[in-house]
Amino acid sequence: MSRSAAGSQSALREANTAKIVDAVKRFGGLTQVELAEATALSAATISAIVKELSLTGLVETRPTSRSGRRAQLVTMARRSGLVIAAHVTARAIRVRIADTAQEILEERRLPLPPDHPMDTVLDRTAVLIFEMLQMIGSEPDELLGVCLTIPAPIDPATGMITFSGLMPGWEDAPIAPILSQRLGCPVIVENDANMAALAEATLGAARGVADSITVLASDGTGAGIVIDSRLHRGADGTAGEIGHIQIDPQGQICRCGLRGCLDTVVGANALLAPLRSHYGNLTFRDVVSQAAAGDQGCRRVVADAGSTIGRVVAGLAQGIGTGLIVVGGELAQAGDAFFDAFSTAVREHVNTGRHREMVIMQSTLPPDSVLAGALVEIIQTTDVLQRFEERT
Ligand SMILES: [Zn+2]
Repeated sequence: MSRSAAGSQSALREANTAKIVDAVKRFGGLTQVELAEATALSAATISAIVKELSLTGLVETRPTSRSGRRAQLVTMARRSGLVIAAHVTARAIRVRIADTAQEILEERRLPLPPDHPMDTVLDRTAVLIFEMLQMIGSEPDELLGVCLTIPAPIDPATGMITFSGLMPGWEDAPIAPILSQRLGCPVIVENDANMAALAEATLGAARGVADSITVLASDGTGAGIVIDSRLHRGADGTAGEIGHIQIDPQGQICRCGLRGCLDTVVGANALLAPLRSHYGNLTFRDVVSQAAAGDQGCRRVVADAGSTIGRVVAGLAQGIGTGLIVVGGELAQAGDAFFDAFSTAVREHVNTGRHREMVIMQSTLPPDSVLAGALVEIIQTTDVLQRFEERT
């Protein structure tokens, strides 16, 4: 074999290795047959490369079964490093540590005060992460990367919040570099609804579907859009930011500065206000759990919100031409009170044509799918192969 032929063969092998590692990183674990489908490589190539990767300790194989037949499941090995997903909401931060096989090793929730300032939250997050690492007997140098998600659109070019008014004290700040400095590892910042959509597209109801919308209905509402199997962020990261679509021209002024946004009508404060005279001071979580338990007043409020969000999402689905909508988030946990009103409103306001059916599903992923999506994103964007070679 000539030198150039040998060179191009090793380049090909390297490219095929990267393809296999990328597929395993994305889906968390695949059989060799599924790997062949995902990478379009031959069974022989996959078998040879998987064997080589398991000898180096980057991936592990274990027996499993698919459709009653025995198969080998290929996953990333635990010692290839640790990744972290952190989800900041209006009231808390949730942190999850996992290995690159997406196996969860530790998870904690820390309540936050209203209008929490960024510096304090990032400080507390770093302290919490170091505590959690200690709990699982790991060192900070095992950290490959962190994906921090927040309820605001992020400009992919700068990593900074696109809109002003949504998270005062967090805007105009380089969030990722600040946390990265505290932790000593790479950090990326992402919008929470986008990560919920990524979770559905890789692990959930939208897996294998080219075009889908995932709605994250919590104390604010957002959506993530997947087009041609890729997350669509839009030029400045505002794609799917449905919480700030105007639905009431005479409505309240929103914290974003516009009037009558969806969030002013279905946000936590708007849902709690009409209940106050009769129920006293309920929290957002109380309303969701009481609606799920059948309380009529709470069900009314949740159903009206579902109906309003459904009308907006119908417009988005019509505009994109998607046939699948997945709904998740804390408000969606109210169950059929929310979901039935939402689905009815979508179906009433969307025209899918004669040959396409609109499928509307509740998320079947465990609660806080945002964290699952954030893990997928940080594993995908981290060069695990290179970091692994550096450390071994
Ligand atoms: Zn707004």
